[in-house]
Amino acid sequence: MSQFLQFECHLDTFIDTLNATIKQNNASMEKSLKIEKKTYANFVKPMQMMEEKLELFFTPLSHLNAVNNSTTTQEVYSASLPIITEYSTQLSQNLEIYNAYKEILEKEQHTLSYEQVRVLKLNIQNFELSGAHLDNATKARLEEINVALSEHSNDFSQNLLNATNAYEYIIEDEKDLEGLPASEVQTALFEENGLKKYKFTLQMPSYIAYMTYGTNEKIREELYKAYVSRAPENAKIIDKILKLKNEMSKLLGFANYAEYSLAQKMAKDEKSVVNFLETLLHDSQTQAKEEFAQLEKFAGKKIKSYDSAFYSELLKKEQYEIDEEEYRPYFEQKSVVTGMFSFITQVFQVEFKKVDLKLWDEKAFAYDMYQDTKLIARLYLDLEARESKRGGAWMHNWQSHHKDENGVEQLASAFVVCNFPPSTSTTPSLLRHDDVVTLFHEMGHALHHTLSCVDENEVSGVNGVEWDAVEFPSQFLENFAYEPKVLKLFASHHTTQEILPDKMIHKLVRAKNFLSAMGMLRQLEFSLFDFKLHSKLYQGEEVQNLLDLLRKQTALIETPSYNKFQNGFAHIFAGGYAAGYYSYKWAEVLSADTFYKVVDEGIFNSQTAKKYLDIILKGGGAKSMEVLFKELMGREADTKNLLRLNGIK
Ligand SMILES: [Zn+2]
Repeated sequence: MSQFLQFECHLDTFIDTLNATIKQNNASMEKSLKIEKKTYANFVKPMQMMEEKLELFFTPLSHLNAVNNSTTTQEVYSASLPIITEYSTQLSQNLEIYNAYKEILEKEQHTLSYEQVRVLKLNIQNFELSGAHLDNATKARLEEINVALSEHSNDFSQNLLNATNAYEYIIEDEKDLEGLPASEVQTALFEENGLKKYKFTLQMPSYIAYMTYGTNEKIREELYKAYVSRAPENAKIIDKILKLKNEMSKLLGFANYAEYSLAQKMAKDEKSVVNFLETLLHDSQTQAKEEFAQLEKFAGKKIKSYDSAFYSELLKKEQYEIDEEEYRPYFEQKSVVTGMFSFITQVFQVEFKKVDLKLWDEKAFAYDMYQDTKLIARLYLDLEARESKRGGAWMHNWQSHHKDENGVEQLASAFVVCNFPPSTSTTPSLLRHDDVVTLFHEMGHALHHTLSCVDENEVSGVNGVEWDAVEFPSQFLENFAYEPKVLKLFASHHTTQEILPDKMIHKLVRAKNFLSAMGMLRQLEFSLFDFKLHSKLYQGEEVQNLLDLLRKQTALIETPSYNKFQNGFAHIFAGGYAAGYYSYKWAEVLSADTFYKVVDEGIFNSQTAKKYLDIILKGGGAKSMEVLFKELMGREADTKNLLRLNGIK
């Protein structure tokens, strides 16, 4: 049994060690390529181990750069990126490796384990999706397309950013600030010629603030119009991007970009994605219309696009609002962590024991994880905000469970990082309920990674898991943060020890599901638009026509014709979500479906929870999630349970 790696990162010598490691890797690769009879054991496994070691060396630096950021970590990190990129680009273009993998797969596929076969198949697929196997002329064209695509994406974001920054709306009459929280007014305040004025922009906090709270309808309309008509020049870029993506997909042997995107996803074909989205749409429409009618009744007027956030907020305040401060005393950080651990112990029989280690910060802690007294993994928690930490919350995997080239078992480890209020020796860190949900979410990812029993590191834990399935375990666990039985394990008032009353738990669920069917329709509009837009070549007016057609089913308010939402849809035109926006909902369906089966079985003695541990968590990325999910549930995912989770009947 191997020990866990010690967390260390020598910034002063990092780049030298990195260069030396890469030099050594290149030398061993050349040597390996000379082997005459290449096999999984003498060629693939050593390559995998080489990559694993580089990863294990690199992860502490990227972790440190995120949680203890300094000019030194930044310098070392940015100096290392081009080195890593050059190395991995060379590897991904090496045809000798590609051919060797193909040959080994052909010769050994009946004697290799399914895990090893999947390693080979995924590697071969990676080569083929980048076109490494094609003739030189095609490769050159693919290269051109990639360069052009990244330029267009960059221009798309830049235009959007310029348009966002170019606009401001100045309020001089304080009457127009009515309804806005004092903090928002303060942020907007500036002085000109000795006069107090207030500036609202299209940047997120500012725009949302006025749209949500501003009582002057004319100003809301003006801001809305400016926002949804940003960057009209992006329409031309959209055409270019769509055309290039279509060409690229065809060169790589796919009918369209949607098919290309699905090659690495769990959803098997275009029809499954569209059917899935349309089923959810069909089942949410009635309730969405009811919610909208309720909102209009409450508003006492016909609601326009620029009214909906405003009246939703008023309605929420009146009927659904949660006072975070009322909840915080029940969610003291230490007892939340202990309670979450005890929940995991009861459901998955995994125990956590704190290990006394010196880590990167005194507020970071390590826990060893045991199952049936056997040490199986290590978890690092770093939960409190500090200046040197990047915002947000995430799970970062470090070691992966596998057997090394000598057959020795190696254990997994992962970091869970959050930004909760800092505690001091006299004041505890009291969380919002949202924070508790976040912690459960990241812990869901961490369990997926650390509980893996897979022997091949490239498909162990979260490695090799399809993009549209990777949020399944995190969303699954996060749902329990709303379950009375689970909350009562730890949600006790930190001074009075009173357990969080049912009434308050019920309120959390009600607030979560506020106007949820309307929200569902909006997400489905984005998902369907994105997916259909990439399923054949749309150009010019056809893009708008597609959106208009979809809105007939998804929009409850007539969208003004000046609204050019697509010109700001950066997720798909400047991010990685093209033909993949549906993934959010896809993973939610898997998690809601499994979640309710566990809840309906009583949670703590649930057979499904045991199967979930054995099949999904232990299985990692060694089989497609499509296969694993069917093994778990004995059927395909049922969208009904996502509706139930959102309170949609
Ligand atoms: Zn996540």
